[in-house]
Amino acid sequence: MYASYHNHTPLCRHATGSPREYVEEAIRGGFSVLGFSDHTPYFYDGDYYPTGVKMRPEEMDTYVDTILALKKEYASDIRIHLGLEIEYYPKYFGRLMEFLSQYPFEYFLLGQHNLGNEIREDGTQDYSAFRKTNDERQLARYVDQCIEGLETGYFDCFAHPDVIHFIGDTALFEKHMRRLARRSKELDIPLEINLQGLIEGRHYPNMDFWPIAGEIGNEVIFGADAHKLGRICDRAAIRLAEEMAAKYHLNVIGDLENRIAGKSSNGLQNAAAESIS
Ligand SMILES: [Zn+2]
Ligand SMILES: [Zn+2]
Repeated sequence: MYASYHNHTPLCRHATGSPREYVEEAIRGGFSVLGFSDHTPYFYDGDYYPTGVKMRPEEMDTYVDTILALKKEYASDIRIHLGLEIEYYPKYFGRLMEFLSQYPFEYFLLGQHNLGNEIREDGTQDYSAFRKTNDERQLARYVDQCIEGLETGYFDCFAHPDVIHFIGDTALFEKHMRRLARRSKELDIPLEINLQGLIEGRHYPNMDFWPIAGEIGNEVIFGADAHKLGRICDRAAIRLAEEMAAKYHLNVIGDLENRIAGKSSNGLQNAAAESIS
């Protein structure tokens, strides 16, 4: 079974290709599961949505309705899941989860692109994980914040856990990232090898991280992180990830179906159903 859970839509303002085209690409490529995990909106203070890389709260109905309609329409061809990619911002996370509980989400990916609450009190952006740093404090902050996010229990998979662009001492990187891999393992949350980063030669996947995941025995899943057509079924990217998995003895799992099935019987969907009734 080919399954892909990390895929975007144009609502996030930096992806192209319609959800329907993604579905048809996945079917043509022989996938039996396709999950949409677009960038969540976030409720910051006031009406200020500064990043321009997320859907707005008022667009959530469109997102959910679009994916659920495709899920129904293509039910005999492919299993479609409704998800989101979410940062953990402590100040705003509770309000976001309350908002999301009205929808029948099936899974959430943690994707920690920024630290703190993304936006500081003075309106400036807090540390972005994409920004190069050799500062151990930023690395430790990243790891601590991811762990705190994973510990909320809301996340089913950890997207690009190695997205932080640390250019300092490798021993420091390994020390902190080992904490992250170990806690993910204890919490039984799979780690994603990000195929977009791999095929584009980005700073992630970070090859100093994956030997640690191999040693600790984390479950690992491939994530297309598709922001354009052609990425879900990118065989070259998949082959590179398979080579990584072999080299670092990674424990690759093919899908998240058991987790999603378990959740629908007692998790968010019930919470959502209760809040509606
Ligand atoms: Zn994106
Ligand atoms: Zn993504």
